[in-house]
Parts: sequence; C-alpha cells; structure tokens
Amino acid sequence: MVDSAGHNSLDVVNHFFTFAAKILKLNDALAYLIQNTDRELRVEVPLVRDDGTLEVYNGYRVQHNNARGPYKGGLRYHPEVDAIEVTALASLMTWKTALVDVPFGGAKGGISVDPKKLSLREKERLTRRFVQGIDPVIGPNEDIPAPDVNTDAQTMAWFMDEYSRQHGYTPAIVTGKPPAVGGSVGRKEATGLGVAIATEHAAEAMRLPLQGARVIVQGFGNVGSHAAMFLQERGATIVGISDVSGGKYNPKGIDLQTALRLQNEAGSIKDLGGAENRTNAELLESECEILVPAALDRVLTSDNAERIKAKLIVEGANAPTTFEADEIFRRRGITVVPDILANAGGVTVSYFEWVQNLQQFAWPIEQVQEKLAKKMARAFKDTWETAAKHNVTPREAAFILAVGRVAEATQLRGY
Ligand code: NAD
Repeated sequence: MVDSAGHNSLDVVNHFFTFAAKILKLNDALAYLIQNTDRELRVEVPLVRDDGTLEVYNGYRVQHNNARGPYKGGLRYHPEVDAIEVTALASLMTWKTALVDVPFGGAKGGISVDPKKLSLREKERLTRRFVQGIDPVIGPNEDIPAPDVNTDAQTMAWFMDEYSRQHGYTPAIVTGKPPAVGGSVGRKEATGLGVAIATEHAAEAMRLPLQGARVIVQGFGNVGSHAAMFLQERGATIVGISDVSGGKYNPKGIDLQTALRLQNEAGSIKDLGGAENRTNAELLESECEILVPAALDRVLTSDNAERIKAKLIVEGANAPTTFEADEIFRRRGITVVPDILANAGGVTVSYFEWVQNLQQFAWPIEQVQEKLAKKMARAFKDTWETAAKHNVTPREAAFILAVGRVAEATQLRGY
C-alpha cells in the first residue's frame, strides 16, 4: 500500500537508512549489504475451515540482518500483510534491536489473513501450519518470532508447541509466550510500559509536565491499552482512545478501567460511554499535548500533519509517520520519539525472556521492569545526545546510532 505521496512503508525506512549511511560515510557496498534483506521466504499456508472448505493464505518470514545476533521480530496476522510491509518491518527490527543494544538482528513475519473471521481452532491450525512452513529457517539461535498485530501469547504458545513437537522442548523459539509455558512476567505489558517510559524521558527533556498532560492514544490493543494505563499512572490524563471501531474523546479523561473491561470482554471499546464519539482521523487531530499512535503504520501523513495539535508524538506503532509528515513535524517544532526507540520495550523484554528460557530460569517482575527501565533510559540518552551532536531529529539520530552499530558488527565479523 502506498500513501498519498506514492511511498510505501519500505521507502520510509530506507529514506532514514540512507540518511544515516551518508552521515556515517559508509561505502556503497557495505551500505547495500546492511540495507537489504538477508533472506525472504514466502510460504503457502493451507487451512481447512471448520466447515471443511479449504482456503490458502500467503505467509511470510523476512530475515533482514543478523550481524548482531539471531533474527528477531514479530508475526502479524492482517489482510494488508504483504512482502513489502513485512520487509519494512523486518528492517525496522534490525535498527530497533541495535538501538536498544540487545544481541539480536531483525526479522518480521506474518500471514495475509483477517483473523477476526477465523474461529479459535482455525487460528490455531493456521498458526501450526505456518510454523511447519517456516521451520527450516527458524531456531532459538537463528530466528526467534514474537507477537505483533492480531497475534498474542496464545498464538506464541501454539507456535512453541508446534516447533517443540519437531525439535524437542524449545521455549526459546518464540517470545511473548504465556508465563505458564516459559513466557516472562512483564512481557505482555512491556511495549506499553516502554512507551510510557520513553514519554516520561521526552517530556522531561522538553520541560513538558507529564502531570495533567492530555494524552490521545490511537489503538487500544496490547501496546495502546498498556501505554494508556502506565501514562495515567504517571499522572497524565488520557483524553482520547480508539480502536478499529472508532474513537472516544473526553477532555476530563477517559474511564480506562471500563475501557479495559470492554476490550477484554467484547474485544472492542465501541460501547464505551461517558465520552464523545470521534472517527480515528478526527481523534488524531483532537486537542492534546501528547499523541501516541499505537495501531497501524502511516496514519500521520502530509494530509493531516499540519492539523496535529500535539507537541510530542510517541510512536507506539511501527512506522506510523510518513517522511513528509516527519518533515512537517520538524518544521512545526513537534518532537517525535521514533518507533525504534518508543516501542523497543517489547523486544527488550523479549530478550530477557529468551535469556530466561536459555537458562531455564524465571526472573521476578521487579527485575524485568528495572532492567527494562535502564535499557530504555540508556537508549533515550544515546538518541538525544546524538540528535544534539549532529543537530538532527531524534529519528535521524536513532538511525545514525543503529546503522553505525550494525555496520561495526558487520565489519568486525567479516563477509
Ligand atoms: P493489537 O492487535 O493488540 O492492537 C491493535 C489495535 O489497533 C487494536 O485496538 C485495533 O482495533 C486497532 N486498529 C486496527 N486497525 C485500525 C485502524 N484502521 N484504525 C484505528 N485503529 C485500528 O496490536 P499491538 O500488538 O498493540 O500492535 C500495535 C502496533 O504496535 C503495531 O504497529 C505493532 O507493530 C507495534 N508494536 C507492537 C509490539 C508488541 O509487543 N505487541 C511491539 C512493538 C511494536
């Protein structure tokens, strides 16, 4: 899918890669090597529906780079999943793991399917068949998937079970599992917590008091709902939330507990009362100090960037901002905490989960959250210092740091 300027999500990532490669003066061949994907796999995923009919879906696993460690990245089940989107998301994972300095590379996968139309058992069969398809290229020291849009801890449990049937008990094959089958405590909420921590650091750097700051969160799934909760805990007022059904706005604050209950029970915040209904597009442009896009990519574009009211945008979602919008935000003095920093809490705790699995050991929640806070603080400080040094935006700074680290590892390992 392309935006109104004709760019797809891979163009956006590559734009910032090229910018960083120039600042770092990488030679063309090295830049080519680390910009492009190591391996792209497309698999057919047949599914026998509950009524006996056969359907066949396209599944993908794109392994972008493993210079700094095994490939790592989520699995997305969504009708718009295609080779280009998965490649862009895989590339972002390489830069994200490098930026937060966890010993992984980048990958992404997914199935082009609308899982909302599938029963639980159909989703399980689809997942198991997909694992069989990508089995030859994954492994706990090779490529370690995780949850993403429309996949969750249950999906990861099926994934781990299917892989373990072939290879023996292997909890370290995926992260984001339920704690009962080797998942880490704190993984489910880690991305949202990381978003809240990143927001706290950015607000402090901007001298924007978080206490009472009005926050709008687009997307009330795993990332958005936890980010909203942790930001409210830190004193912010959540004035707007949304999901695929539409948005809710209340300048005095949204009743988050009821929203969470509705989300858990009905899978949607559609029936949330005590707030004005707004479309997702209207909500993004509504009054607030902080905007957290936490749904899908390319929602902040040249079409709406001039009308965004927020002073601070914290990218819970991957690639929510096109580069035209990014330019408009730079000109308007709006600070953007880029995706590869803002939502890196998930992969950071995924790393902790993988370490615990390899050691067959479980850490307490305090240890997980303390280590996460330290990693996020370090990555934030590195990014802000690099931005000041080169007089660039936080996103450009994050790419300079990440691409530099991947280039260094590549050169040290040799070709
Ligand atoms: P999720 O499936 O749990 O939630 C997605 C949310 O977005 C839901 O509330 C859904 O209703 C909403 N949504 C879907 N389509 C929409 C639309 N067209 N308009 C408005 N809202 C829409 O997914 P998630 O895991 O929370 O992921 C959200 C984003 O965060 C994605 O970009 C993902 O890549 C990114 N991310 C997720 C993690 C993680 O650990 N889960 C980590 C890093 C980044």
